[in-house]
Amino acid sequence: MKIAVLREGAAGERRVAAVPETVKKFIGLGATMAVETGAGSTASVSDAEYEAAGASVADRASVLKDADIILGVQGPDPASLAGLKPGAWLVAGLNPFGERARVDAYAGAGIEALAMEFMPRITRAQSMDILSSQSNLSGYKAVLDAASVYGRALPMMMTAAGTISAARVFIMGVGVAGLQAIATAKRLGAIVSATDVRAATREQIESLGAKAIFVEDVKGIEGEGTGGYATEMSDEYKAAQAALVSGHIAKQDIVITTALIPGRPAPRLISDAQVASMRPGSVIVDLAVEQGGNVEGAVAGEVVERHGVTIVGHRNVPSRLAADTSALFARNLYNFLSAFWDKDAGRPLLPDGDEIGDAIRLTRGGQVVNPRLLQN
Ligand code: NAD
Repeated sequence: MKIAVLREGAAGERRVAAVPETVKKFIGLGATMAVETGAGSTASVSDAEYEAAGASVADRASVLKDADIILGVQGPDPASLAGLKPGAWLVAGLNPFGERARVDAYAGAGIEALAMEFMPRITRAQSMDILSSQSNLSGYKAVLDAASVYGRALPMMMTAAGTISAARVFIMGVGVAGLQAIATAKRLGAIVSATDVRAATREQIESLGAKAIFVEDVKGIEGEGTGGYATEMSDEYKAAQAALVSGHIAKQDIVITTALIPGRPAPRLISDAQVASMRPGSVIVDLAVEQGGNVEGAVAGEVVERHGVTIVGHRNVPSRLAADTSALFARNLYNFLSAFWDKDAGRPLLPDGDEIGDAIRLTRGGQVVNPRLLQN
């Protein structure tokens, strides 16, 4: 049973899907590990470290030859997988809605593509959840990115020359990334507030010592749909939210937005007029910029200035902490594959009818089989 680890090809992608620790663990299960030359170089892992862990390191063609499972962070270009064994598994973050043509190509090549971002949000799968592990560190990094372009300090500082007041930081969207952003901003000494559409987050915000800013008294709003995700809100709610947020944003120094709704563009939370209401030198970080953006004027891949406010729109924020995010991503992959390891078969098997397999399997037997893709 051979597992191949590819060097990522996407522009700006610095992560890698296996680290020496997981290489050793897969070998412990009986697998042979082959890593593409330079795969870990942007995540602080050298070829020599993979070799020391027991992997062979070689060019892509040798690594893919006879591979049973290919691990990636993002989906590789299907053309670069030519000659792969039919039925081989591709296990990666495959961006199934955004890269639908690739999914079709994987099916055409006879590959069984397993999309890790479709992992169900159930207790059994928590340790396999790439969205959580990567969002967690994105929330942390968003606060550091804001702090690094903010021309003032975050904590209150008392000096002989006088006192500097603490920065006000507002987090919009309190999922995994937002919770970590709250915790990080608190650690840096900021005065932190946060909002979400899901009522359940109020207690989480308060338990981290931040102030919850919530729309009250709008009827018929649950905010939470299936799987604990947000739903699209009513027009009445959106108007109430905009009014509430307008007054609050004008008093903030840093705003971090993380709001997403599965299968839809990111909700627009901050208008250009609201940006203009902030004092010059304020900073907004839009973590949803690649999904359409929460902030008017945010540009994916750029740091722009509007009305004296810096709007940070970095792409692929997890990749900005590639050593740690790779280690967590690699463990998510190992936790998934080892949970389904069949000792007799000497490989993982994903039985039909299993909630995890059925959720993440995109293609099989030359066909796209995932219900979420077939609906679209
Ligand atoms: P996400 O990335 O889909 O969205 C980020 C946040 O934005 C969410 O909290 C969402 O409610 C919020 N949001 C959406 N529209 C908004 C709006 N108009 N205004 C303000 N906020 C808005 O979220 P996520 O981090 O993936 O977490 C989603 C859910 O999944 C949460 O309930 C989380 O606790 C849960 N979860 C469960 C598990 C598990 O059990 N395995 C793992 C991770 C997350």
